[in-house]
Amino acid sequence: MANEKNNILEKIVSLAKRRGFVFQSSEIYGGINGCWDFGPLGVEMLNNIKQSWWKSMTFRKDIEGVDASILMHPKVWEASGHVANFSDPMVDCKDCKARFRVDTIEEEMCANKAFQGRKAIKCQQENKFTEPRTFNLMFKTFVGPVEDSSAVVYIRPETAQGIFTNFLNIQSSSRQKIPFGIAQVGKAFRNEINTKNFLFRTREFEQMEMQYFVKPGDDEKWFDYWKDERMNWFIDHGINQNKLQWRKHEKLAHYAKNAFDIEFEFPFGWGEIEGIHNRTDFDLSQHEEYSGKSLKYFDESTKEKFTPFVIETSAGASRSFMAFLCAAYEEELAPTADGKEDKRVVLKLHPKIAPIKIAVLPLVNRDGMDEKAKQISDELQKNYKTFYDDSGAIGRRYRRQDEIGTPFCVTIDSDTMKDDSVTIRERDSMKQTRISSDKISNYLFNAGL
Ligand code: ATP
Repeated sequence: MANEKNNILEKIVSLAKRRGFVFQSSEIYGGINGCWDFGPLGVEMLNNIKQSWWKSMTFRKDIEGVDASILMHPKVWEASGHVANFSDPMVDCKDCKARFRVDTIEEEMCANKAFQGRKAIKCQQENKFTEPRTFNLMFKTFVGPVEDSSAVVYIRPETAQGIFTNFLNIQSSSRQKIPFGIAQVGKAFRNEINTKNFLFRTREFEQMEMQYFVKPGDDEKWFDYWKDERMNWFIDHGINQNKLQWRKHEKLAHYAKNAFDIEFEFPFGWGEIEGIHNRTDFDLSQHEEYSGKSLKYFDESTKEKFTPFVIETSAGASRSFMAFLCAAYEEELAPTADGKEDKRVVLKLHPKIAPIKIAVLPLVNRDGMDEKAKQISDELQKNYKTFYDDSGAIGRRYRRQDEIGTPFCVTIDSDTMKDDSVTIRERDSMKQTRISSDKISNYLFNAGL
């Protein structure tokens, strides 16, 4: 079973490369660990995920957006606790020189090629490891021409701090009243020790975070509200409920009052895709102390002044991308045009997430069908990411679209030339419907696009 599941991950990684979803970064130089590039279909799909999240978060009256800079004042990371605490205890193997996280040693393998298949825990038992020491996960660099300690800046390990530091700017410029939230999508960087499992743990990744500022005392109510909202977002975007679960943090961070993760069942096991946290007034209070500026909110109706509590929803865009890909991947037997059956690989992506919304296929390249198909494709392309394909047997063309998750294919045949009707084929059911060509956009609109 474990092998079969690993096999699925290999197949997904290979499909992702072959069809242009995800490539290893700097591949021609042998790659760089923990960094990946999104290809033509990948960037469409990632953008769709981010846009759908953005829409669900900010197309409402109580949430504003922000796009803060990646480099911030170094004091931000002292206030947030990242300089002192954002670290993992590590050990080095004196023998093979590999570095391991203490908390995951049980899952690790020895890096010495001569001992293939040997568990790292065995090396530990043989005292090959150094004493644990902490290793900060933030990347550092310098601003300006002088590389000394006064010029050190950190490359943000999370997007949240750009929200906290802008809390009052945003509240006053948008005239929001508590409760309200601030949403942000952006890159984050962590010098992870063990990058593994494709996009799951990378050194450069993207986050979709929202901090919701509430009156102390109302925090638990809003925590429950955001838990429901966020779980439903994944379900509404096509992930089967039985592939999702809650994990409650039993050991809470010192500032947190409550924390739950949404976990997805990846081929390698359950893994966090989003955290919902009650962060209390920790972040704003810390920034108030370190900056010396008041970050209190004044409630005009009650004339009270207080530091709001924060409910945070923190999702990985690239990690969710991987979850959507894994959830969508299916291999099944399907009928072929000549009445037989063959295996079809299909990505059952939600139409909103799918990189290409519709493929336009002339049955043959003659009798005006190709001209007509190009015309329809150009028209659809104005509103929907459309793919035109006129090469190969129609069945093979359908399969090529199935494999990249295109929810609809429209076929132009000899009847189209007579009565302007086309066939629309739906990816999952493979059902074909005949409609008038001027109703295609309507059809897509009704399908939620
Ligand atoms: P983990 O325990 O997996 O390291 P975390 O608890 O440190 O994650 P958070 O700091 O809560 O994660 O980050 C919020 C979200 O950002 C995670 O749920 C995940 O989707 C994403 N994320 C965090 N670290 C990475 C990473 N190294 N690669 C890809 N996505 C990540």
